[in-house]
Amino acid sequence: MAEPAFKRVVVKISGEALSGSEPFGIDQPIVERYAADLVSASEMGVRLGVVVGGGNILRGAHLSGENLSRPTADSMGMLATVMNALVLEAAIERAGTPARTMSALAMPQVCETFERARALRHLEERRIVIFAGGTGNPYFTTDTTAVLRAAEMGCEAVLKATNVDGVYSADPKKDPTATRYEQLTHEEAIRSDLKVMDATAFALARENRMPIIVFAIHEANAITAVLSGAGRSTLVGSRN
Ligand code: UDP
Repeated sequence: MAEPAFKRVVVKISGEALSGSEPFGIDQPIVERYAADLVSASEMGVRLGVVVGGGNILRGAHLSGENLSRPTADSMGMLATVMNALVLEAAIERAGTPARTMSALAMPQVCETFERARALRHLEERRIVIFAGGTGNPYFTTDTTAVLRAAEMGCEAVLKATNVDGVYSADPKKDPTATRYEQLTHEEAIRSDLKVMDATAFALARENRMPIIVFAIHEANAITAVLSGAGRSTLVGSRN
């Protein structure tokens, strides 16, 4: 087996990536595929944290309005990420690797509450830790959560799963002349207002010199491919 490019990473999987071709909900076969890929990555000896989004269920910014404050809508969004995390946790465990969901919002009857020391211990024990509930605060995103948890866990990189195989000079679906960047600095990513991650996430990554690898998740074994140095991706920042 190829020596992995990183030994410790956080993988960010958006809610949308869990719904497959549907705009809403959870596509179980797709979840099983991600779980199998994560288990293979873990078997390569990589310590894995996973941050899941909630956009396949709801996004606070879309739901908030006259009848619902943004903080309340964001609480609902954070709860959505917990639902996704539980589905992924079950699939990972079925695929053969122990996993633990740790939520930033305390709900002890449902899953563990995020506690840094305990999360570090899970990683040492080769359990895949799924960080749910975002940062636990409104007005943030799960992309920011991924960078935050990666920094807290002493990870070498964030692997950001998207629909496209990296960062392009324009939207490749709309502009056939769009070209893919091999590498960008955090500064360039922030300056060009890339839609691939929000500015808060990039700023936190820049401050902590945390590389972000943007890659496409739609093919089988996409995560292990990135970890083996194969597959197409864009590196934002530089390898430490
Ligand atoms: N959210 C939040 N604080 C956080 C992370 C997430 O309030 O730290 C809420 C927010 O409403 C967001 C929703 O959870 O819209 C789902 O997260 P996100 O939009 O990042 O999911 P993704 O786009 O990755 O599916």
